Parts: sequence; C-alpha cells; structure tokens
Amino acid sequence: MIPHWIIEKKRDGKELTADEINFFIKGYTRGEIPDYQAAAMAMAIYFQGMAQKEITILTEAMMKSGEVISTESLPSPSADKHSTGGVGDKISIILAPLVASCGVAVPMLSGRGLGITGGTLDKLESISGYRTNLSKKEFISIVKKCGCSITGQTKNMVPADRKLYALRDVTATVPSVPLIAASIMSKKLAEGAQSLVLDVKYGRGAFVKEKKNAHILARTMVQIGINMGRNMTAVLSNMDQPLGRTAGNALEVQESINCLKNNGPADVIQLTLTLSAHILLMAGIAKNTKGAIQMLKNNIKNGSALKHFQRMIELHHGDPRVIDNPALLPKAKYISPLLSPKTGWIETVDAEKIGRACIILGAGRRTKEDKINFATGVSEIRKIGEKVEKGKPLLLIHADNKNQINEAKKFLISAFTFSPEQVKPPPLISETIYGK
Ligand code: URA
Repeated sequence: MIPHWIIEKKRDGKELTADEINFFIKGYTRGEIPDYQAAAMAMAIYFQGMAQKEITILTEAMMKSGEVISTESLPSPSADKHSTGGVGDKISIILAPLVASCGVAVPMLSGRGLGITGGTLDKLESISGYRTNLSKKEFISIVKKCGCSITGQTKNMVPADRKLYALRDVTATVPSVPLIAASIMSKKLAEGAQSLVLDVKYGRGAFVKEKKNAHILARTMVQIGINMGRNMTAVLSNMDQPLGRTAGNALEVQESINCLKNNGPADVIQLTLTLSAHILLMAGIAKNTKGAIQMLKNNIKNGSALKHFQRMIELHHGDPRVIDNPALLPKAKYISPLLSPKTGWIETVDAEKIGRACIILGAGRRTKEDKINFATGVSEIRKIGEKVEKGKPLLLIHADNKNQINEAKKFLISAFTFSPEQVKPPPLISETIYGK
C-alpha cells in the first residue's frame, strides 16, 4: 500500500477500508510512515471527518498498537469512568473507591493536567509517597486486593496515540471528533474494563465548549465502545463553573476525602452518585437507579468507601494517615481572600479563568516540563446562584509567592459577575446517552 494514496482518498472525502487504516496506524507507530504524512492524514480527517465504522477501526488499530490490559483474572465485574476534563473535577478520586466498595473492580488509568484542566495523577501525587507509575502486574494486584487502583498508563500502552496526539498538538488538528474519540477510547479500551461511563463536559472550562459538540463526541464514543463489545453510558455535564469548591491538587484531594466522609459539596456528590449509579447498573450490581443510589449512599455513610480509598493509598505506597489528618497534605505559605466588589447574586464563575489563575499559582503546568506545586490553588469558591455581600470572600487563594497572589487576582476577579436579582444555577447534568 502507498501511504500518500490513502491520504489522497481521505482528502477527497472517501471512506477508508480496515486494511488501509490498519496499515497507516501500524506504519506510523513503527516509524515507517513519517510525521509529515501522518500530519497530512490528520488534517484530511479534520476536514473530511470519518464514518462511525472508520472511527471504530481507527480506535481498535490505535488500541492494539501497544500493550493491552486483561481484566479476565479479576473476580468481580470491572468498570471505569472517563471525563473529558474540567476545572475542579475530582470525581475519579471519589468514584473509584466508592464503586469498588459496592463490588465492582475499577482498574483506572488516568492522566495528568492538560492546559487549564487538572489531572487525577497530579492530584493523587500530592499524597506523600503515592506511586502512579505501577507496572501492569502491580496494578492488577492492587485492584485484586482493594477493588480499585488509579495509576498512569505504562510506556508500552497505546504508542500510536502518544505519537499522534503530540503531532496533532502542533499541527492544529486536535479539535476533530473522530480523532478525539479514537484517542480517548483507544486508551480507555486498552484498560480492558467491561463497562465504561463517560462524563463529557461542555462550557467555559471544558475542552469542548458547545453542548451540541459535546453531544456528538459523546455519541461517537458510546458507539465505539458498543461496537467493541463494552457496556457504555455517557452523561453531558456543565463545566461553566468549577466543580465543587476547590481547584488545585492537595485542595481537591482534601475535598474528595470530605465527600467520602459524607461532607462534600452538592454538585460533586450529585455527579459522583450519578456516574457511579450508571456503573452499578451496567455491571449488574443494582437493578435500578434508586437501588444503586441507595447502595452508594450507604457505603459513604458506613465508611466502607473511605476505607477502600485509604487501602488504595496504602497499596500505592502513599501515606494513608492523610485520611484522618489533613495537615499531612501539602500546605501553601499564604492564604489570601478574594473579596467581592459587589452585593448580589453570583451569575458567572468562569471556570476557564479560575483554571488560568491556578496555572499562575503553580497548580497547573505552563510547559510540559513544569513541576506542579501541590499546595496551591483556590478553595471555598462561591457558586452561581449564591448571595454574596460586598467585601466578603468569593474564594480563598492558596499561594507560595505573594506576587503570584496579585497576578492570580486579576484573573479571579474577572471570573465573577453579579446580578441584583436571584440567579438560577444551570443544570449540572443535561443529557444521558445510553449504549443500548
Ligand atoms: N484527550 C485525549 O486523550 N485525546 C484527545 O484527542 C483530546 C483530549
């Protein structure tokens, strides 16, 4: 096969065959097809799109480009969750032990922060000693022992995506539904979980801003999973404002622990329970949503979910004492309030601006090589629809450097708008897409 004839075919809007897609992905992964031809192919896909059948073949070819995890040796049904990323999104940290406490194995491979969106691995690494670079064997052994493990992908997994994603990043070909769907799903399907729930976000702080595009992406990913024999459900959730009341690594771990102690913010709890309930239903652990929610709430109240989290931390060589002693989490030198310039109801809390302020504070990366400051970020964020008074805090800034406080404040103050009248918060979950 000749690579440039395949590129030409996609450029002209024709459907590629399985042989052509497999040849291209194999050749690119092995270095036989150069970056410039892969970039041309990505651009052709960007403009011409792909049929659902082609996207599934592309996903499978990318998934099979490296090591795939087998969950066959796990005793219980297995499931995982993926979020397209947002500001203050700590759901995975709460969901994995919670779902595990209900009898579903959760082998979860997570990522690092990307742009303004935080990463689960960075957050967990704020727990002293927590390892995120487990081997495949260690990973499966921890899931067997405590029902869940959250770690990073091994170097040998999905190499096609690692190469292609880096190439797309510098060739303006990231925002393409077929390429995003294949990239996300190839990584998630390589984990081997039988059921997968997707949290596809839209809004100011999301990777996909428009709800209608989030819908298309969600549908495409659900269909890929179904075509590959997995149970799939997706929810579309709002990311106009940060999730919960914290953004920043150690601060979000603390908020997650609070949620597992039945003392978390309403939006984080609602989304965690909804996504977890979908998993219990797909895994056949609960018969209906009401029963699933009841089981999940019971396991928060009776401490079982928290125990699973503590055990997971311990098995990852992290300090399990953080559960009872928050002082063991990294703390910033300075805590400074951002004061409200007005009295009124909060109308906007721009998640993108809050995310940018977190990068200024060192809680996110400016370059790929940047080291994260685990202690910094924002807490006690006031939310849309809440009443505030002039001169009272809108949030607390946690910083290690006084100059960064002033720089972050400029972003943070412009993140808030106010109304003289009561404001109704936007619905957190706007749609559910079932795989059947
Ligand atoms: N996240 C991914 O993993 N891949 C994409 O293409 C976009 C977001």
